[in-house]
Amino acid sequence: MTAPSSTKYAIIGAGIHGLSTALHLAEMLKASGKGSGEDILVVDKGTVGSGASGIACGVIRNNYFQPAMRELMAHSVDIWESDPKAYSYHPVGYMQISPECMREDVASIYEQQKAISYESVFVEGAADSMKYMKGLFEDWQAQGITSVLHEKRGGYANNMASMLGLAAKAKSQGVSILSGVEVQGFEFGSNSNAVTALLTNQGRIGCDTVVVGVGPWVNRIWNLLELPKSISVKSNGTMHHNVPMWKFWCLEEGTLGIDPELHKTNDGRFPPVLHVDTDAALYSDRDGKLITDKLWGIYYKPDFSFGGIQGGASPYKVEQEADLVAVDPYGPESPDFVVGEDFVDMWCSALAH
Ligand SMILES: Cc1cc2nc3c(=O)[nH]c(=O)nc-3n(C[C@H](O)[C@H](O)[C@H](O)COP(=O)(O)OP(=O)(O)OC[C@H]3O[C@@H](n4cnc5c(N)ncnc54)[C@H](O)[C@@H]3O)c2cc1C
Repeated sequence: MTAPSSTKYAIIGAGIHGLSTALHLAEMLKASGKGSGEDILVVDKGTVGSGASGIACGVIRNNYFQPAMRELMAHSVDIWESDPKAYSYHPVGYMQISPECMREDVASIYEQQKAISYESVFVEGAADSMKYMKGLFEDWQAQGITSVLHEKRGGYANNMASMLGLAAKAKSQGVSILSGVEVQGFEFGSNSNAVTALLTNQGRIGCDTVVVGVGPWVNRIWNLLELPKSISVKSNGTMHHNVPMWKFWCLEEGTLGIDPELHKTNDGRFPPVLHVDTDAALYSDRDGKLITDKLWGIYYKPDFSFGGIQGGASPYKVEQEADLVAVDPYGPESPDFVVGEDFVDMWCSALAH
């Protein structure tokens, strides 16, 4: 397909945000009689799933600290559950297993889940937490745990398979998805700030509305839109000025080629995704050295699609200013953001813990 000269709705990015927006916009246009998916064009400088959506662990959970996330995530889970096969979704549930310093926060998440009838179990106290965990995995041994939140819904989706499933659904509504089209600039109307066209490596694409779904490339698009590099933010009544608009964080993940069957529950079922945070000291499983005695955490899931386990740890803040961060080449191709021996030792030792 060659790029058209115009479209009503132009969506930049064929990741989960761009494609989900395309699908739902197409369904709404059709339902309201205002158009159809044929009015929508998704362009990506790579292809479907070239960004974060194609490499993410794919954990689907309700446990996010901001209360506003509770209903949004419940809504998102409804969509995953609507077609598990197409989305390659595994509804195994999710567990947040925490130390004392997190108990109160997790308890409030549980209360909010109860209020919206999102099914979960909350266990408190070291002895009861251990009993609950051993009831699932007889060899459970993590230390420093005083609460367990077990979300019965959620689980994980296989990243690329779910992206291709979502793209197929959007296409079946008439949406066009074009790979290898990079947005390099915008054309603005003469009398307003509104964008009237995308300027791409495949030429000009006129449009009425633009949706930006470029994930970690957002700083570049923000600059092309000539939006401010710093903003003012009010926090607890105090105004902070000149706060950089974008700050990068790097999330490190890994996969281990060990038999996922080892991680099934006592009764032979696929286990929930496990997220464990603790302040118990973490020692290297290789040489016994102390890795940390501060709060640490990991999440993981046995993944039967590739026969191993996948997971990660806490993200770290990238200190460089946003304009200097090389987002490309992205993901495992990046020379700057790739895990080293420290991560391997930490993650494997944390799993052993
Ligand atoms: C290692 C890792 C693990 C993660 N694990 C989880 C998890 O378990 N659960 C969870 O919920 N979230 C997870 N996340 C977060 C989640 O992956 C992202 O929030 C989500 O995928 C972002 O989707 P997106 O569509 O906004 O962006 P992306 O998936 O990054 O898509 C952006 C797309 O825009 C395209 N693009 C960029 N610039 C241009 C341009 N100028 N012109 C045309 N196209 C352009 C890119 O090629 C890319 O395909 C994880 C993230 C990472 C990095």
